[in-house]
Parts: sequence; structure tokens; C-alpha cells
Amino acid sequence: MTRLTHIFLSAILLGSLSACETRDAAIAAPPSSLFAQAWNAGIDPDEPAFHVQEIDATTFVLRQSLQASFEAPFLYLLLGEDKALLIDTGAEGADPRAEVDRLLAASGRAGLPLVVMHTHGHGDHVGGDASFADRPDTIVVGHTAEDVAGFFGIDLWPDENGTLDLGGRKVDVLPTPGHHASHVMVYDAATRILFSGDAIYPGRLYFVCDKAEEYAASLGRVADFAQTHQIDWLLGGHVEMKAEAGQSFGQQHKSRRGEHLLELPGSALGDVTAAFAGIGDYPRVTPFPEFMLLPHPADPTGKSPPDWCKPA
Ligand SMILES: [Zn+2]
Repeated sequence: MTRLTHIFLSAILLGSLSACETRDAAIAAPPSSLFAQAWNAGIDPDEPAFHVQEIDATTFVLRQSLQASFEAPFLYLLLGEDKALLIDTGAEGADPRAEVDRLLAASGRAGLPLVVMHTHGHGDHVGGDASFADRPDTIVVGHTAEDVAGFFGIDLWPDENGTLDLGGRKVDVLPTPGHHASHVMVYDAATRILFSGDAIYPGRLYFVCDKAEEYAASLGRVADFAQTHQIDWLLGGHVEMKAEAGQSFGQQHKSRRGEHLLELPGSALGDVTAAFAGIGDYPRVTPFPEFMLLPHPADPTGKSPPDWCKPA
């Protein structure tokens, strides 16, 4: 998501979604297959800046507290033998460095060089970059498509994928513009997880009206990739859906009791691809059980959802 998008959408969407907010009885999410705990719900004022859970001994998920940001983005730390990789740094003001260093030390890999990359350049995913500025043996990848292509050796953006070898663990970097020009997904063969950023997650999939085709083309390339790479789970940048199918939290809702699980099964790729394939003459705001398509005009003046991409 972007701050600009929020400014555009907040007033209108808060109105249209307020009916969902009046339901107090939160449905509990089913047990997670990946995580021991439910994610902190933003209700405890003393909850830590990051809620950290491990998937395995070398794969960690950090969620920025809802107390700090209603975006409550998820960050991912993958450890190899030669390098560690941090995917995203959180929303503005985030300081994930101490948490990353703590996890490296606890894993017996305190001196490991670190690569900091981003699923895309929106502020809620690059907001903690500054905390790594003076960290030794650390590279912070830039935010433009050119920066990302250059670092990962992608000559033909977005038709070619890049790779990064962490030492005994290789990740693939898949250009997936649509939500944002520099958007990538990251596939980790070791866990068979696709880190899908803001392109696929249990929430509002935002895109500017005229980016629907670019977004769909990106999903098509990921579907091709999935033909030869087993994807067990997709882990994205946020959770905005409720456990109750098709229901979402309001735009800037900061307590998330009864939210949807973070992880989506590999089949979600097909579900989102099908949703885009079902777009007719123009994209409309459309809820699905586990996500919502949220096309919006670059300039929303005089237009309103769900038909605000309708040609004049
Ligand atoms: Zn985001």
C-alpha cells in the first residue's frame, strides 16, 4: 500500500466498509500451519515493536506492531551459510536492525553479511532502511526497478528472473510490476515459500486502473514459474482480511482481533490469477474470500468505487 493511496481511499472506503466494523464477534482464524502463535492484534499497548516468529531455524518472520503502524507490515529474514537476506524493512520509523542482529546472534551467525532488499519501493516496505545505513557488511538494495534489476543480474526486466545465493540456499527474484513498478516476489526453494509482497496477500490488492494488464502479466509469469517450482505457501506484506471469508478490516483499523492467517496456500496464486482474468472491460473493486481487488484511479476526482475505473 502507499500513503498516497490511503489519502485517496480512506474517506470513501471507510464509509463503504463500516458495516464490517460493527460486527464485534470476531471469528477465530483456524490454526496456522506455519506459526505457533496468532500475530499480535494491536490491542496490548505494551506489545513489542516487532512480533517475531520462526518458520524454521534459519527462516524468521517479523511483524511490525499495529501500535506503531496500521500497515503492520511483515518482514522476512532468511539465513544462508554465507549471507543473510532481509526482505523489507517496515513502515516509516521502523528500526528492525536490533531484532535482525539478535536473531543472527541467536542462530550462531552473528557476523554474517546482510543483504537488505524490498518487495517494492512503497514507504511501508522501505521505512526502516536507515537503521542499516552504517551497519558493517550490509548492502541495502535500491528502490527502483533499475536498482533491483542491476543488483540481481536481471537483464530483461520484467521477463527474466534473478537469483541470489546465500550459501547453501538460493532464492529466485521474480519481477512482478503492477502494484508498484519495482515489485518483486522472492521464491525460497529451501522452504518452498513464495514471498509475494503486496502483489498477493490476504488483503486489498491495490493497483492503478491502467496497471491491470501489467499486474496480470506478472501473475502469468509467476504461474509459469510455478510449473517447475513447488510453492507450498505464499507469505505477503500485510493481512487486512478477517478470518470470515470476504470480510476485511477498515482502511486504518489498528486492532485486528480475528484476522485472516498470514499464509495463503499455493493455490492462492491461481485464485488471484483467475480474479484478474475475470476483469471485464475495466477493473472494479471486487471482494473475494481471501483477498480483494482494489483498482483505483491515479486521480480519483469525481469518481467513486466500485466503478471508479469506468471509462468516462
Ligand atoms: Zn504495503
